[in-house]
This record gives sequence, structure tokens and C-alpha cells, in this order.
Amino acid sequence: MRFLVEDPLTKLARKLRLMGFDTEICSRNDIRKSIENRDVFLTKSKKAMEIASKFGIRPYLIKSENWRSQLKSVIQRFQIDLDDVHFLCRCSKCNGLLEEASPGDAAMVPEYVALTAEKLYKCNRCGQLYWNGSHVEHMKWMNGIVGKSGDNAEENKL
Ligand SMILES: [Zn+2]
Repeated sequence: MRFLVEDPLTKLARKLRLMGFDTEICSRNDIRKSIENRDVFLTKSKKAMEIASKFGIRPYLIKSENWRSQLKSVIQRFQIDLDDVHFLCRCSKCNGLLEEASPGDAAMVPEYVALTAEKLYKCNRCGQLYWNGSHVEHMKWMNGIVGKSGDNAEENKL
């Protein structure tokens, strides 16, 4: 599933990247030139939905203002399950792919990270460094969103 996300939903787009989904962001004026190789267009605007439909990409309207609820609705609509999710595979800033960092890159991260992280990853597009210390945190919020109980029970009522 390759997403194109309109820029008011940038936060949602970054979360999708964090989960390993190929996700590009575009402005309203750039929908047409951004749809190549994209499967689904996510937007908050009915107008943008109409535009996207004309260009032949499947639009999905996001109604919530809250990124957790937004992500949840995308997960439900496209039947994403935990097996589809791959952390530490894609850069949340630019959608580049992560590769194993070189020993030289270890000098660029805080000392505690260099000492404790099992592996460092580097974005092949923008050079951003990632490490697996935050993996457990990712899994927690992921389970919170995909799961049907727990701390987001409130959002289930909406
Ligand atoms: Zn990047």
C-alpha cells in the first residue's frame, strides 16, 4: 500500500512512514504530479477528494482532527495488521529507506545511544540517523492504536 497524503495530514503521514509504509506528502496543487506509483490518497477535504478521483487515484476522506484516530481509521479501512508494520525501515522525515549506518555515523549520535543501541540506521535520502532504543515505545503505541482496549478506549466511542 503506497500512500499519497495531503499536507494538512503531515503528522499522519509521518506515522505511516514510521510504520514502514511508502508515504509521500503533497500540496493541493501538486496532487496530479504526485499520484504516480501511489495507491491511495488521504485527505481531509472533499474538494481534494474530487480532484484526486478525476486523476484516477482512490481517495479516502479522513474525518478526525486527532492523528491517533486518523491512523486508526486508516488501519481499519485498509485492514493493516501488525504483520504489515515494519519499524526502522523508512525515514519519517522524508520517506527515504533506512540502511545500516557505518561506524563513522556512531560519532554523530549521543554517547548513550552509541553505547546502548544495538544497531544504528541511516536514511539513504536525508541522512537522518535512527536507532532501536525507541522500538519498544513504538510497539506500545502501535498496540494501543490497533488494539481494541486500553488507553484509547475513549476514542472508540467517537
Ligand atoms: Zn530521510
